[in-house]
Amino acid sequence: MSYARNLIGGSWEEPGPAVIETVDPATGEKLGKAPKSTAADMARAVAAAKDALPSWSSRPAPRRAETILRLAQLLEQRKETIARIVTREMGKVREEALGDVQEAIDMAYLMAGEGRRLYGVTTPSELPNKLCMTLREPVGVCGLVTPWNFPVAIPSWKSLPALVAGNTVVLKPSEETPGCATAFVEALVEAGIPPGVVNLVHGTGEEAGAALVAHPDVAAVSFTGSGETGRRIQAIAAPMLKRTHLELGGKNGVVVLDDADLDFAVRAILWSAYGTSGQRCTAASRVIAQAGIHDKLVERLAEGAKRLRIGNGWTPGVQVGPLVRPWAVEKVEKYVKIGLDEGAKLVAGGRRPSDPSLKGGFFYEPTVFAGAAPTMRIAQEEIFGPVTAVIRVRDLDEAIRVHNGTPFGLSGAIITRDLASAMKAARAFQTGIVYVHNGTIGAEVHLPFGGIKGTGNGHREAGVTGIDFFTEVKTVYIDYSGALQRAQIDR
Ligand code: NAD
Repeated sequence: MSYARNLIGGSWEEPGPAVIETVDPATGEKLGKAPKSTAADMARAVAAAKDALPSWSSRPAPRRAETILRLAQLLEQRKETIARIVTREMGKVREEALGDVQEAIDMAYLMAGEGRRLYGVTTPSELPNKLCMTLREPVGVCGLVTPWNFPVAIPSWKSLPALVAGNTVVLKPSEETPGCATAFVEALVEAGIPPGVVNLVHGTGEEAGAALVAHPDVAAVSFTGSGETGRRIQAIAAPMLKRTHLELGGKNGVVVLDDADLDFAVRAILWSAYGTSGQRCTAASRVIAQAGIHDKLVERLAEGAKRLRIGNGWTPGVQVGPLVRPWAVEKVEKYVKIGLDEGAKLVAGGRRPSDPSLKGGFFYEPTVFAGAAPTMRIAQEEIFGPVTAVIRVRDLDEAIRVHNGTPFGLSGAIITRDLASAMKAARAFQTGIVYVHNGTIGAEVHLPFGGIKGTGNGHREAGVTGIDFFTEVKTVYIDYSGALQRAQIDR
């Protein structure tokens, strides 16, 4: 049994009596424990981060970045070990667990480079002998609240831009994946991050998470998780005028036009609907198929979904691992019943697997609904499991309308051989991310990531925009004319 610990002010703390237990979702067996931290623990972590801020923020950014470069190297060495923890704690299959760690490695290399950029702008002035520029300043202590579905990648997306920009952080990771967050922070400590600059506090969202968001010394909160939690966080932060970044759920659709390569479309959809057992914010939970390809696509998707190999994520050849916890399976069951009651037709899955070797684990068969109407709840609400619903449309215009007809706006995809249709969709999709000739998943860290509408509140993680949330932009005017020059007046 493993024990995740809190890191506060540079000390790994011995756990108290209150704990949260974790389980292996592939077997249901007990796995480890993590501290169930209190608001007082959180306050100590925030105080440590506040104390560490002056010295970390005054260290030159290229020096800060050297620590992050060492982190990248350590994570590379430990990739397999950490991926094993990912699979054990939340179930994703081996190659995706390795990908989760790789994403943190990629982000570490990207942010190590950012230490020598952190660009502002220099521009001409409207007045002579005057220089105008912007500088980036750190925001202060940043509270990072993260989910379980990318338990290494998402803590890296938030912490590394924050750190390179000179902030100090308190990370409250998901209570389902404390071991992953601990392994990541252990590597940061070994990379040489000074005491107090990174603090790790485990616990529940309601207690530890809410205490972090509400703490007056936390200047900014970056959150990824469900819409419900995001709204709660926003409600706590709003009266304090606290800067918040919210990355929330999705209801992503793949549009398949009649001219698409059918084999390719099937492969792309299976990967984006059932990768991570559909527990990705970018999962393809809707397929929007043009009438001419619709029937063949439904048939092939159903066949493909039935052939996917379900099992323990670490077993070679397994393509679909378990869901994270029993409540996740129950939620999927609830939505499958809703879909049937709404009149959609189940063409694959729709049940827990009968294989006795999977007994004890939290498995659900890859599920395909056909005959879904765009307004059905299974086509509107985030299920976060291995379920996709196929919707028939006449043409591209209807496909775009259906695609955009949900409250969410994270990722959209179109599969077609026609460039003009692809470009029309790329411009018309109301999403933060568009894929042409692929499914909806597979972000690269050097590009902005995030959603619009009900998925996000206007910020982006990663890419060139990843540091924006974690920096205050300061405008500096240097007037070396020696005269009193008045903007807008002395023309
Ligand atoms: P969740 O909202 O249940 O929990 C996320 C985090 O918030 C956890 O650390 C939790 O402890 C904490 N939390 C819960 N209540 C809180 C509160 N009142 N105050 C402060 N913190 C609180 O989400 P989850 O089940 O861990 O993750 C799944 C969700 O995350 C899905 O909706 C998925 O779409 C979304 N997600 C979005 C993105 C994205 O980038 N848009 C990426 C991954 C996951």
